[in-house]
Amino acid sequence: MGKSHLEAWLKFVFNRLFPVTTFVPSTHYLLRKLVGAKDWTEYMVHVCDNEDCIGHVYEKLPDKHTWKDNLDEKCPHCSETRFKTRERGGRVFVEPRYWYIDFGVEETIQYMAMDADFVAKRGAGRDPTGPGAGGHYRKGVTRAGT
Ligand SMILES: [Zn+2]
Repeated sequence: MGKSHLEAWLKFVFNRLFPVTTFVPSTHYLLRKLVGAKDWTEYMVHVCDNEDCIGHVYEKLPDKHTWKDNLDEKCPHCSETRFKTRERGGRVFVEPRYWYIDFGVEETIQYMAMDADFVAKRGAGRDPTGPGAGGHYRKGVTRAGT
């Protein structure tokens, strides 16, 4: 999964989590800003997703600088290597073969709710006649009858 795939995935998820009229951080750059992440690789979970493998979740390494020291690590189920190397511009880059990002959805939504800019924009984008119009999230009032 590359950054463009992550971007597409985030748009997919947020479009389903929130009504269309609300403001949501649809890019991983804004999401990183909201959660205060210095490096999004700290949220990477390395897994084995090889075609004939039952799947495996690797133990977290301290940081990306230790990836090169673990080039020999293999999936205990299918023996596929955890990392792959790629050469670009004369430099060799180490990257996990399969991974996903886990920001923690609940934690991320809490961070978004604490961001003044997000709250202002979300409030401005609400449709008073649309879905959810019976309640107001900032006043803690729930929809009438529920
Ligand atoms: Zn495997």
